[in-house]
Amino acid sequence: MSSDTPVVYFGSVKQGNMGKFASFAAKVDEVVKKLDLSTIEKKDKVAIKMHLGYQDGYQTVPVFFVRRIVNAVKKTGAFPFVTDNPTSVYNAVNRGYTQETCGCPIIPIAGVKDKYVYESEVDFHGLKSLDMSGVLHDADALIDLSHVKGHNNCGLGGAIKNIAIGGYSAQSRWRKIHGIEGAIPYWDAKKCTPEHAKELVEACRDHCISYKEESHELTLDFGMCHQCLDCIEADREVECLTLRPENYALFQELMAIAANNILKTFDETKRFFINLAISITPYCDCWGVGQPNIVNDIGVLGSRDIVAVETATLDLIAKEGIVESMIPPYFRVHKDPGLHPFEQLHGPMKSPYIALRYAEELGMGSRKYKLVELLSPAKTMKMKPPRHVVETEPTFF
Ligand code: SF4
Repeated sequence: MSSDTPVVYFGSVKQGNMGKFASFAAKVDEVVKKLDLSTIEKKDKVAIKMHLGYQDGYQTVPVFFVRRIVNAVKKTGAFPFVTDNPTSVYNAVNRGYTQETCGCPIIPIAGVKDKYVYESEVDFHGLKSLDMSGVLHDADALIDLSHVKGHNNCGLGGAIKNIAIGGYSAQSRWRKIHGIEGAIPYWDAKKCTPEHAKELVEACRDHCISYKEESHELTLDFGMCHQCLDCIEADREVECLTLRPENYALFQELMAIAANNILKTFDETKRFFINLAISITPYCDCWGVGQPNIVNDIGVLGSRDIVAVETATLDLIAKEGIVESMIPPYFRVHKDPGLHPFEQLHGPMKSPYIALRYAEELGMGSRKYKLVELLSPAKTMKMKPPRHVVETEPTFF
C-alpha cells in the first residue's frame, strides 16, 4: 500500500470497555478529530449535508451525533449549518432536528421553494444539465454526513448518494436522475403486441412493468426491479424485452457525475466524509417509513476521500452480512453468498460498487484505502475501566 493510499478512520459500535472513553460517542468524536477540521477557516460557512428523513422515517443520523459534530466545527471559528431538501427541513422537527437540538441553523438546500439552483452541466445520454443546490454551491466547506443504508436504485445510500441526489432540486432528483435508467432502449415496440405487453405486465409480481395500450408504450421501473427475470422468461418466444446491466448502471454513473460536480465547488482541503453505519435499512431514508435493520450496526467511518470511505463501508457491510431474520417478506432475495448483501436485496445488476468505479475514473478518489480502527475493543479492553458513577452533571444526590 503506497503512502498516498487514503486513510479511512473507523470506530466500531463494539466496545471493549464500559468506560465512557471507549463508547461509540467517543469513537465518533475521535474520527472527527482524526479528520482534522483545522483546514476549515475562521468564518467559513460549513454545510453539513444530511438526509433529515421524511414523515415517519426516524432511522437517520441521530441528532446526538449531529450536535457533537456541529460543536467540533464551531471550534474552528467557522459557521456550520445543517442542510437538506426543503421538505425534509420543513418537517425535520418531527424527527428531533431543530436549531436548538443540532446547535446550528437548518437551511433548505435549494431555497424555500426549491428554486435556488445553479445549472450544472452533465451531458449524459441526452441529459444536458442538473439543477445544483445553491446553498451547497455557495458554502465554503462540506461535511457530507450520511446515514448508511440500502438503496433500490444503486444498492448503497451513503456519501455519494447524499450529495449526488440530495444536492440537487427535486425536479433534477426525481425526474432526471431517477429517470435516466430508461435512456438505453430496452423494449422493441414493433415486436410486441398489446396482448403480449399485458402478459409481461402480469409476469412481474412486483408491478415494475406498466403498459399504455392507447399509445402502445411499455415502461419498466428499473428502480424497483430486482432482476428475478420472470418477465424475460415470459418473453422467451417474442424477445422484445432486454434487461441489460448498462441500464441499471446508468443511475450510478450519473450519480458519480452529479457528486463530482458538487465536490468541484469545494476546495479539496475542505471536504469531509462521515458515514454512520448504524440502523442499516434495506431502503433509503426517502421512503419516510421505519424499516427493519437488515445488517447489524457496524460503526462510524470517516475520510477525506469519498470513494475510499464508501468502499470501506461496503466492505464492512459485506463482512457483516444480512441478518436473515430481519428480511421483510416482500423481498425476494437472491440467496447467493457471492453477492454483496445489497445485491442480494436489490439484484445482481445493482452492485453498489459500480458508482465507485465511475467515481474513481472521474478522479474523485481511490477504491484502495487503509482502514485505521480507533479505540478498538481489543485495545480498550486492556485499559482500566473507570469507577462506575451514575447521575452526574448535575447531581441531585
Ligand atoms: S426482472 Fe423481475 S422484478 Fe424486474 S421487471 Fe422483470 S419480473 Fe419484474
